[in-house]
Amino acid sequence: MPTELKYLKGVGPRRADVLAKEADIHSETDVLEYFPYKYVDRSRIYKINELTADMSYVQLIGRFVAKEVVGVGTKKRLSARFVDGSGAMEVVWFRGLNYIDGQINTADEYLLFGKPTFFNGRMNMAHPDIERNPDRLQFSGKLMPMYTTTEGMKRAMITSKVMQSIVEAAFESVRLTGVRETLPAQLIARHNLMTRPDALWAIHFPPDLKTLEKARFRLKFEELFYIQLALLRSRNINRSQVAGIRFEAPGPMLGKFYKEHQKFEPTGAQKRVVHEVWGDFKSGKQMNRLVQGDVGSGKTLVALLCMLIVAGNGMQSCLMAPTEILANQHYENLVGELRGMEVRVALLTGSVKGKKRKEILDGLANGSISIVIGTHALIGPTVAFNSLALCVIDEQHRFGVAQRAMLWATNSCPPHVLVMTAPPIPRTLAMTIYGDLDVSVIDEMPPGRKPVYTEHYFYCNRNKLNAFIRSELQKGRQAYVVFPLIKENEKMDYKNLEEGFKFMTECFPEYKVCMVHGKLRTDEKDEAMRQFVSGEARIMVATTVIEVGVNVPNASVMVIESAERFGLSQLHQLRGRVGRGADQSFCILMTANELARDTRRRIEIMCQTTDGFAIAEADMRLRGPGDIEGTQQSGVPFRLKISDLARDAQILSFARDCAKEVLADDPMLTSPQSVVMTQRLAELQGNAMNWSRIS
Ligand code: ADP
Ligand code: MG
Repeated sequence: MPTELKYLKGVGPRRADVLAKEADIHSETDVLEYFPYKYVDRSRIYKINELTADMSYVQLIGRFVAKEVVGVGTKKRLSARFVDGSGAMEVVWFRGLNYIDGQINTADEYLLFGKPTFFNGRMNMAHPDIERNPDRLQFSGKLMPMYTTTEGMKRAMITSKVMQSIVEAAFESVRLTGVRETLPAQLIARHNLMTRPDALWAIHFPPDLKTLEKARFRLKFEELFYIQLALLRSRNINRSQVAGIRFEAPGPMLGKFYKEHQKFEPTGAQKRVVHEVWGDFKSGKQMNRLVQGDVGSGKTLVALLCMLIVAGNGMQSCLMAPTEILANQHYENLVGELRGMEVRVALLTGSVKGKKRKEILDGLANGSISIVIGTHALIGPTVAFNSLALCVIDEQHRFGVAQRAMLWATNSCPPHVLVMTAPPIPRTLAMTIYGDLDVSVIDEMPPGRKPVYTEHYFYCNRNKLNAFIRSELQKGRQAYVVFPLIKENEKMDYKNLEEGFKFMTECFPEYKVCMVHGKLRTDEKDEAMRQFVSGEARIMVATTVIEVGVNVPNASVMVIESAERFGLSQLHQLRGRVGRGADQSFCILMTANELARDTRRRIEIMCQTTDGFAIAEADMRLRGPGDIEGTQQSGVPFRLKISDLARDAQILSFARDCAKEVLADDPMLTSPQSVVMTQRLAELQGNAMNWSRIS
């Protein structure tokens, strides 16, 4: 029986509460899995004259030669002078003065462990750990674990050092029962992995760096292996248990469109992806496929061709977009593309009401509508399809797990699912978030595209900017001016936007300027969009509502105001709104003069490359994977404790390969050797809600 947390030595009921609340630690096992965030090399003793202000924790050996309590009231502190033969340093304590005073004895030698700081031109150290008459040998070759402690933990006196003793107590307490191995023995043997008990011990108390690396590898591997195993197993279950709608032939529509209506030849990549989808359609298995393609790579055409296969087989498709604007635009485009073809296409968004709505609902129910475009309102319980066979989800990062899951709830025989992502996410992240989907990549741009030329301007260059915009407008082109909108209801943001609109209207009296933002009524939005799409308005002042999908090939200038307030992938998305026609396009990033280092780096990256994959990788490195748009709601099954998707790409690939190998032998993990894995999976999934239906 595991010991309850509060009975662990050094914990008690109050600290147990704090640990649960602050660090999500509820059991002994959780303690063992509360990994250090770094280690301090305690094998080395520094000299005072070696210290610099940028050092982290160091240890010194020497003597206190003087001490006194100075100051009054809250400013009171104990100040001691510490010498080690190389120099002298002030050491101060602001709390527990009496206790410390009693500990310090000028006759003895002390080991100090703390962080040096430079204060008033001199080196000093506040609140170091001290140890009287240290045994010098004891410290050789030790790496001391440092644990993250929140303010709440610190208030309960749970410092890193206390955490360390709680970890020791947890090891002591599990000594009899032992730590359970969670990977199959064959896997450990074949890849020469460290065992779990050894790895856990070594991650907390590494004897040396080499052992620490091995322990880390084992634990990262395990974490990533189980994520991949879970994803791939659920894919196996989908494939074997969920029958898919099967098409025998591509049907007449695709060929007709290709011969008579198509405006341009699909790129090789587009053809390949449609081919891959066709492979799924005829397999009899339900398709779960992700199409990854950079902004402007032509994902919409791929979707259209797939929907035509479905229509040609007498069944229905839906295309879901993240915003109404985008849904409208897809609708307009498709209607244009399909003119003259006998395919009934409808638009169903929240703002389609009354008789019109009823007509569409009827058409969907009786099967006369083949393709319906809309927002997530489409998958609400009120919409009944006659024979839904394909669901295309555009710009997936806006669609949550729950919404995807609704597709299953409303359909007994699930439709094929095609997810299209615009900002290509790094491969490692894709493997994790979409690990249960098959992936197709559009890695080729339509011919004749010129990379968008990107420049960084400061606000003081505004005149130059306006002159440039004017010269482009005079060539007949159009321009976007985008303002950040961090919170939809922040007054400030709207003020900026509206002033921007006024300013542009005044600067360009000869051209029509329109404005789009999320707070407009749908008809106002539609009208502004219409003006811009038709070319009547030449400048569009907008918020990021235009970030995804909007397609006006004649627009050649994208001005991003306060570019410092956008993330990399958002900047890339916005830039993707231009460079869609054959003309050279420009993106201008406007910022203040003073920029933080990270911000400057983002702007530099934008000016250097237009490759969405490179930008996604850079974004992940700058921000960490947790922050990347979409990861929160996209259902990464369990929170990562030790791996880092940005750094551990290789371990991830290796873990995925191992998971594939395991499942090749035992697709449903039903053999006796797999018990260890099913048990672990159940444990992990028990901790993560809402995860089994992420496909
Ligand atoms: P995204 O992948 O960002 O959704 P779109 O599907 O909106 O890109 O396509 C971007 C633009 O490229 C559109 O104007 C579209 O008509 C055009 N396009 C798509 N495929 C091709 C092609 N094979 N040849 C030429 N232009 C294409
Ligand atoms: Mg698109």
